[in-house]
Amino acid sequence: MSRSNSDRPVAEADCREDFPEHISTLAVHAGEARQKVGDALTDAIFCASTYSFESTAAVLEYIEKKLPREEYGRYGNPNEKTAEKKLAALEGGEDAILYSTGMSAITGLLLAKLSAGDEVVFFDECYHRSREFCTKHMSRFGVVTRQVKTGDYEAMEAAINANTKLLVSESPTNPHLSVVDLEKFVGIAKKHNVETLIDATLGTPYNLRPIAAGVDYVLHSATKYLAGHNDLLAGVLVGRTAQLEPVRKLRGILGAINSPHNIYLLLRGLKTFELRMQRHNENGLAVAEFLEAHPKVERVYYPGLPSHPYYDVARRTMRGFGGLVTFTVRDADWKQTAKVVDSVKIPRIAPSLGGVESLIEQPLVMSYFDYPPETRKQFGIYDNMIRMSCGIENTQDLIDDLKQALDQI
Ligand SMILES: *Cc1c(COP(=O)(O)O)cnc(C)c1O
Repeated sequence: MSRSNSDRPVAEADCREDFPEHISTLAVHAGEARQKVGDALTDAIFCASTYSFESTAAVLEYIEKKLPREEYGRYGNPNEKTAEKKLAALEGGEDAILYSTGMSAITGLLLAKLSAGDEVVFFDECYHRSREFCTKHMSRFGVVTRQVKTGDYEAMEAAINANTKLLVSESPTNPHLSVVDLEKFVGIAKKHNVETLIDATLGTPYNLRPIAAGVDYVLHSATKYLAGHNDLLAGVLVGRTAQLEPVRKLRGILGAINSPHNIYLLLRGLKTFELRMQRHNENGLAVAEFLEAHPKVERVYYPGLPSHPYYDVARRTMRGFGGLVTFTVRDADWKQTAKVVDSVKIPRIAPSLGGVESLIEQPLVMSYFDYPPETRKQFGIYDNMIRMSCGIENTQDLIDDLKQALDQI
């Protein structure tokens, strides 16, 4: 690991107090019963849609005493309970709620917390579907969304009024990798008595600790680094039990629960979470450094590079900087840029990120092709931009591959 070998910028900062050393122990063991069904070492998958009671008396006892047990599959299942405990432990939070996708987690929180007349303030680089849900749909129920420039804390504070309930940001953002100053973000929220949500999907509990910084709700698309194998969709919200209680109740109504089979895969993926993150961090930095030194590359966005506008904030708030690297190709139009994407042999062309397989895409083509040029410019999406999610492959193989792809233009 490059942490110990410091003749170049390090992939990971030395461990600090707010970054627990025991992430791998938690990833393997937290939330799991020591002795399991059938004496198996691994968890059984509970396929049940419903759970039986021995007698009417048992039903009444459950209702009156609220004994912790399952009832009907839409309200929970044993695999989900295990995953929720493990994810809460990894994040350092009191409680976690698992969802079928990252989007169902954020929409579940917003629907539970916001009512007509309430307002929410977003940093504008947040995941576009999250913002779209607010501007197009929460607006139909009388909720007002205000968007301010990412990193402009004065604008964020100025957008707060007596109706504001929630401040939302992603950290780091996608695809520009802007990093939130959690201290400032939480400071503003506390001053005005509003709650905070950080979408830490790109940060992960290995690289970022929003709960320790005082954030109320942490959201992950567990589809990405947490599950880590590009083989399932899942989402999770972490926070305090009391604050999450209405959110959990609403999930039971919305029905956005994940399936036990999927959750088994999530739990299996999580076992290697720390090992994967260490390699993602190493590959991300090495690829970013290679690209920055390449004459055909115009600009690299990676928060672990001193050239990144948020490098100082990233150094203060993150352990490592993850596997996502965005760059622009010098003097290339969208077709030449596509040629680079089409010439790589290892990364696959696909949306998504955070899995063991490297993925590559041209944001213009993959996500913004229908948008008018002015809107793309406003979002900072350029024709010559490429986003690569570095997987866990051999570092030099990824660099050699990018090198031969850049040689094609
Ligand atoms: C993918 C993603 C989401 C949405 O998660 P799904 O699991 O696809 O629903 C939300 N936020 C960020 C930052 C993401 O990358």
